[in-house]
Amino acid sequence: MFKKKKDGEDPSATTLREHRNFLHCSRIRDFTLFDVIEMSEDDCFWHLVVARFGSRENFACPKCGVVDSHYYRAKRRQWRCRHCDESFSCTTGTAFQDRKLSFKKLLLAIVYFVSGAKGIASMHMSRLLDVQVKTAFVLAGKLREALARSADQTPLSETVELDGGHFGGRPRKSRNKYKPTPEQIEKKVRAKIAYENGNGPYPRASMTRGNIERRKKRRIVFVLRQHSGIEGHGAVRTMIAVLNDEIDKEVMPVINAKVVKGALIMTDENKAYTRLNANYEHEVVNHSQTFSTVDGVNENQAEAFFSRLRRYYLGISHKCEPKYLADIGWEMAWREDVRRKTEGEKTAHLLRTTSANGRSIKWRGYWQKRKVQASPPPSSSPPSAAASAS
Ligand SMILES: [Zn+2]
Repeated sequence: MFKKKKDGEDPSATTLREHRNFLHCSRIRDFTLFDVIEMSEDDCFWHLVVARFGSRENFACPKCGVVDSHYYRAKRRQWRCRHCDESFSCTTGTAFQDRKLSFKKLLLAIVYFVSGAKGIASMHMSRLLDVQVKTAFVLAGKLREALARSADQTPLSETVELDGGHFGGRPRKSRNKYKPTPEQIEKKVRAKIAYENGNGPYPRASMTRGNIERRKKRRIVFVLRQHSGIEGHGAVRTMIAVLNDEIDKEVMPVINAKVVKGALIMTDENKAYTRLNANYEHEVVNHSQTFSTVDGVNENQAEAFFSRLRRYYLGISHKCEPKYLADIGWEMAWREDVRRKTEGEKTAHLLRTTSANGRSIKWRGYWQKRKVQASPPPSSSPPSAAASAS
């Protein structure tokens, strides 16, 4: 793997890829939980300060924006601006504003969140950090929200793979040891034959009332992934949208907004994509026959994304409410896009993201019994940082 390099590619950027498996390379472990455990509360504070402001002394006041060496009150770990006279800390105007956790626990939580290849469980975080489950749940939610809001919304180009996966609302299997009578088996077989001959509808199993309610929570996570253009490098950018159904009228507005016209799009044989030919170069792979055609038409990058999200859904969260699904999808999109970065790079990126996107909108007031808002409709752009600061 990772043999072919593009002409003119920076050789220093390929160090990780030269390793047989880049996850086995020691360079990947440049900032881990162990490093944070060895740091003092003060070290963690200054780590977050540098991540937020880029410097220990000279930086912009979050209130008025003037860059200066502001007056530092060591006891409160706060600054007073030399121009607008306002006090601020290193979490003012970030996702962690009004935090009660120590800086060390905050940094531990972030590093732990980053280290999970297929997401993290709030329950597990609560046991590791000795915090309430609700605290861990809200903190992880704020990190996901920051990732969702900061996601690059520039339309994808060149070669893009599309696919939709079903998530949430899984029907529960019946517990009764019910043995069908010969008449019932005969009826089922007749219905199946009639369907195959085109003389009847698809014979669906009847659902219980509970399962009908559960099925209402099922959503489509629709993924769009742009190829890197280098063989063996997979995808470079991932975007997602949460839809109610994988049908033409839901899928097309998302594609038109997130993919530039004229791009090469690879999909499976779903009927929802038949109108793509009008504006895009459209290639189809028949999944019932092959994963990839002889010409290299495939959507394995989209499947790789679903593999990661499916592992989170089946192995870590076990269920998924529709209102959290978009943020989880964007989290997994981020995990896919930074998969070749080291732990330190990923942590630094997440810290920049939480600083740059203002206070949490969804999770603010959660402890005061304010409900988490459902995700905005897929086609709308994420809220700007200015709106969140108000
Ligand atoms: Zn100021």
